[in-house]
Amino acid sequence: MKSFENSAVKVFLKKGREKSVKNFHPWIFSGAIERITGEFLAGDVVSLFSQGGGFLAKGFINPQSQIRIRILSFLEEPINPEFFIGRISDAYQFRKRILPVRTNAFRVVHGDGDCLSGLVIDTYNSVLVIQIFSKGMERLRPHLREWMESVFDSAVMVERTEGTSLLEEGIPVNKEIIKGSVPEELHIEENGMVFKVDVWNGQKTGFYLDQRDNRQRMAVWSGGKKILNCFSYSGGFSVAAALKGAITVSVDVSEKALELARQNFGLNGLNPAEHRFEAQDVFDFLQNNKEQFEIVVLDPPAFIKKRAQVPRGARAYKEINRLAMARVQTNGLMLSCSCSAHLSWDLFQKIIFAAAQESRRNVQIIGRYGQPPDHPINIYHPEGEYLKSLLLRII
Ligand code: SAH
Repeated sequence: MKSFENSAVKVFLKKGREKSVKNFHPWIFSGAIERITGEFLAGDVVSLFSQGGGFLAKGFINPQSQIRIRILSFLEEPINPEFFIGRISDAYQFRKRILPVRTNAFRVVHGDGDCLSGLVIDTYNSVLVIQIFSKGMERLRPHLREWMESVFDSAVMVERTEGTSLLEEGIPVNKEIIKGSVPEELHIEENGMVFKVDVWNGQKTGFYLDQRDNRQRMAVWSGGKKILNCFSYSGGFSVAAALKGAITVSVDVSEKALELARQNFGLNGLNPAEHRFEAQDVFDFLQNNKEQFEIVVLDPPAFIKKRAQVPRGARAYKEINRLAMARVQTNGLMLSCSCSAHLSWDLFQKIIFAAAQESRRNVQIIGRYGQPPDHPINIYHPEGEYLKSLLLRII
């Protein structure tokens, strides 16, 4: 059977640097490597050894990336098509077990969270959208379609490999229809709600699947309330709240996103004319508008994309949270989110603390939420935890 391994190559770690591998961390940084024997290409699957020559793991090698090796397996097992099909299939079977009813859009494969470093697969009502974030997975692109066909019964497959992290791995943008044709109108179901998803031109792979559980949570509180949804994208939180009888204001800088939001209201039997859609920068909206709301949702894009941006990003989070808190009426609720992986829970809470202090508001944390179960975090890879949400009561 076909193997993807370059068995001519051996990577030896420096003395003592096997500790992270023994702790099953899937990344080996360049500084931990002592020497490499044999010729290889970026993205090859190679074997990793301790300085003393003991086998440690197998993974993708990429001399261009600080993450020099992305481990696929800690066992001496063959890395062949069955290996990848097995991992993808296992991830898919698990999703089917844990998904809420009346939901057909979810993340099937979540990179290192599913021990498939650099591969993301989302499905939208059977339309598969993949993203590739590692050189190794990029090299395997010619095989992906076949593997996915053996796991899924999907007529449409699209690739949306885009974004800033590609540069660090040295892989080019690739936007491609792999199979079939993208439907003009693609509708998905999430907890019984209907959303139109644009997998070709929409943000990310088309929809923010990771906020599914938070949309449900906030809807519970929304009956008859006035809600401000900041960074609304296609109106996920707004539709969930409006279906419970809330009056919503959705703010997003993208007019295209708001047009989708209006359509999503209609698809759920709601009249968009009874709600407001503001195509504005949220910072400006919050500064220029003194209106008060019973519930505010604040779900900004990642302000921190690399570690060096932590101080500046933290200031932006503080500022936007301070401005948003001022819009929450006494006894109201605010859901504050951060999807920056480089922002720790600890620092996030300190930022909320600073925003509360500057706003001179009394604030209680009444909920702390992370990623939904289709975005699992490998316990040995804490870097995979990115979404943090605090539900606050603003007094
Ligand atoms: N809460 C949304 C996802 C938000 S993603 C959901 O549940 O689907 C972040 C959104 O912020 C994007 O739609 C993007 O267009 C928007 N955005 C980015 N910067 C912005 C800014 N400065 N002001 C307003 N919107 C912004």
